[in-house]
Amino acid sequence: MTQTQPQAVEPCAVDLTVSDLPLPTSAEVDQDLFTTVIEPSEDSASDNTTAEENSSGFAGFGFSDALLKTLDEKGYKEPSPIQKAAFPELMLGRDLVGQAQTGTGKTAAFALPLLERLEGRSTQPRVLVLAPTRELAMQVADSFKAYAAGHPHLNVLAIYGGSDFRSQIHALKRGVDVVVGTPGRVMDHMRQGTLNTSGLRSLVLDEADEMLRMGFIDDVEWILDQLPEERQVVLFSATMPNEIRRLSKRYLSEPAEITIKTKDREARRIRQRSITLQNAHKLEALNRVLEAVTGEGVIIFARTKAITLTVAESLEAAGHDVAVLNGDVPQNQRERTVDRLRKGTVNILVATDVAARGLDVDRIGLVINYDMPFDSEAYVHRIGRTGRAGRTGEAILFITPRERRFVGNLERAVGQAIEPMEIPSNAEINESRLTRLRIRLGEAASAESNDETALLQELIQRVGQENELSMEQLAAAALKLAVGDQPLLVQGDESWLKTPHRADRRDDRRDPRGRDRRRGDRDSRPPEDNMMRYRVEVGYRDRVKPGNLVGAIANESGLQGRMIGRIQIFDNHSLVDLPKGMPDDVYNALRRLKVMNRELQISQAS
Ligand code: AMP
Repeated sequence: MTQTQPQAVEPCAVDLTVSDLPLPTSAEVDQDLFTTVIEPSEDSASDNTTAEENSSGFAGFGFSDALLKTLDEKGYKEPSPIQKAAFPELMLGRDLVGQAQTGTGKTAAFALPLLERLEGRSTQPRVLVLAPTRELAMQVADSFKAYAAGHPHLNVLAIYGGSDFRSQIHALKRGVDVVVGTPGRVMDHMRQGTLNTSGLRSLVLDEADEMLRMGFIDDVEWILDQLPEERQVVLFSATMPNEIRRLSKRYLSEPAEITIKTKDREARRIRQRSITLQNAHKLEALNRVLEAVTGEGVIIFARTKAITLTVAESLEAAGHDVAVLNGDVPQNQRERTVDRLRKGTVNILVATDVAARGLDVDRIGLVINYDMPFDSEAYVHRIGRTGRAGRTGEAILFITPRERRFVGNLERAVGQAIEPMEIPSNAEINESRLTRLRIRLGEAASAESNDETALLQELIQRVGQENELSMEQLAAAALKLAVGDQPLLVQGDESWLKTPHRADRRDDRRDPRGRDRRRGDRDSRPPEDNMMRYRVEVGYRDRVKPGNLVGAIANESGLQGRMIGRIQIFDNHSLVDLPKGMPDDVYNALRRLKVMNRELQISQAS
């Protein structure tokens, strides 16, 4: 290996606000954002490297020619910000804590330097990576294998639960340099003595917060306690809960710290929208969204296994090719599913959060949150399945009217507004269908001709002559044949689409005027400045509805309906916000006013 030594750098805590991948070209890079970080490698590049090496953004970190070649072949032009910050530290063997999500290039950030520091051969594993899920373990192992292409003697092995123990033992016996595994299975091998960690030089904890969330933290600590004193520990986590900070303090020694705040720019690459709808309309709405919002590669997130199946069945019935990823799907099938999605042989995946953790498929163009995620972290993770590897993505969130109040939390977590959208109408779907057909026709017409093309042309000419038809008539007939029996345009009933609007309007009653006329809303917000809250002695037991109160009060007081504010109905009474300064005579009239056959007995609410 020819290696240029990286310059020694001072321990640093780097806090970056940077974009996620796509990795910016040097022209696009907002230099101010990370000059502090890349300075060391830039210096070393100008000091130690040739002009030719400088043409690669990866030169100057001390990487071997073989690795530079591999990166070049993979089309990596520039290191991502987290890579720029991490490479110099890890090449020096320092411990490192990195706060970064998937999609930032964090795998290469640790894999490249750790591989490069593996000199000579050894019979014992020298790098161990712990990952929360089998999928992530496999992905990380695959990345290591790809990056080690220039060093064919290096062996990488993924070990995880659910796959054959004995074949893992055989592979470990044959000699492995890098082991990537889930904590439970790694611990099992260590306990059995089949994974010898005495020669270990580096340990990586990938997605440490996920390992914590999934209850692996004790296993992780047990593993850390068994490792040699002299070792490098690298910890990556999307969030930094206290427990992870504690772990890092206990097991890492003077680590470099890198925080990648992907929030703003990452989110901006993903267009986020929400549809408010009734639960009962979700399946139909989903079908409509899939028709109107054309996305290459779609992941639909559902809350439970049962819902994934219902959704998949409905989509299959509508003619879609769908795969399901949930906890019941056996491991080997999961791998096949992800592979099919990656290759595009299946375009839609319906998944639960756990099953889709860490899923890294570049071609996902659309994420649909069929059910609201459990928390904002899950939302960030879900939408992060799209907009990967430099692409833009779309995320659409289904929310029932009652869930609307949680949207603010999600918006805060991503630092971006989630725009409301409507369920696509017949007209939008039809437009989208025609556009797709036009594109397919254009592509088919401009595809290279072959023997069959000549035959088809002959056939068309013959049918045209026999039936005296124009080319347009023939082409339209051929297209109809291609479209098949399904009607080209949807014309079904779309009156139900109005329901979500009603839901919206109802919710809007919480708006600036602060009205809310829904049952049981016991919000204790005080009335607006210009309003006073009154109590009336009529409630649910009288079957009163907000409309009854508004109508009666407006008629009696001469107030316009819109001047009547928030109404809260309880079992035996209701609260009504009315403009301050009500004249005495109106007040007295309202006291005796009967609504649902009961006197309001209006009084100022305490
Ligand atoms: P990760 O954050 O590790 O999940 O990586 C996200 C994706 O970016 C993966 O598909 C990587 O192959 C790709 N990637 C990582 N580093 C680079 C780079 N410097 N240039 C281009 N693509 C990269």
